Amino acid sequence: MKYNRILLKLSGEALMGQQQYGIDAARLMQYAEEIKTAAATGTQVAVVIGGGNIFRGVQAEAFGLDRVQGDYMGMLATVINSMALQSALEKLNVNTRLLSGVTIQRVCEPYIRRRALRHLEKGRVVIFGAGIGSPYFTTDSAASLRAIEIEADVVLKGTRVDGIYTADPEKDPTATRYPEITFDEVMEKNLNVMDMTAFTLCKENNLPIIVFDMNKAGNLQRLIEGETVGTRVSMSGSKAPKPDAKHSALQPSLTTPTEQA
Ligand code: UDP
Repeated sequence: MKYNRILLKLSGEALMGQQQYGIDAARLMQYAEEIKTAAATGTQVAVVIGGGNIFRGVQAEAFGLDRVQGDYMGMLATVINSMALQSALEKLNVNTRLLSGVTIQRVCEPYIRRRALRHLEKGRVVIFGAGIGSPYFTTDSAASLRAIEIEADVVLKGTRVDGIYTADPEKDPTATRYPEITFDEVMEKNLNVMDMTAFTLCKENNLPIIVFDMNKAGNLQRLIEGETVGTRVSMSGSKAPKPDAKHSALQPSLTTPTEQA
């Protein structure tokens, strides 16, 4: 396998499937199956899951609530999603541990780096809940930070689009996908891969990010086996979009909106 240890980031919104809110049972099981297959290869798998399908801190103001309180609500939403994923994995007989950045003693272990590493070494799928445990961050930042802490080889950002495009492919049919790109190019072209905190953490620690379509069956497995899937962001990504990309190149502006991921 190409990677010894991966960190898979899934957005909460992806869990909604076709719904407007909450967790779609079929989508949840689909992700659990994909993770089970990935873990069965012997690659160590850690997962960070967002909470956008339930609550995001930025919504707090619209509710007339305090932002920090809203962020903690968002963090707790990620724990709900993490518990759902843990349960789905356990139904498939996958050994898991849920480690939370906010202590919730009855339902999960607190996040302790050494413990996380031990679980991974034992072949358990480790789910990191509650982001980094602090307000004003996102689960993308949590994914980057935890990946660095556990010395993962790569952050795999599972989205519903198949990589990073020159423009938003859901709005611009002429958008072109980059098979590879450098951290610097992403910044120069102002592409939207992750929020800046998350992105900078990866860049400064030379941790590659692969943005890929998690909804396409087998993609996760293909990535782990070393196939080129989605877009790889690294220190040395190649310059030009590949000819196999869907459409002709256009405006170097925005791409994969993280909120759509
Ligand atoms: N959050 C936070 N600190 C963290 C991670 C998450 O405050 O370290 C809150 C924040 O309000 C965020 C919400 O939890 O909006 C849900 O996470 P996120 O928006 O990253 O979920 P996703 O977009 O991946 O579904």
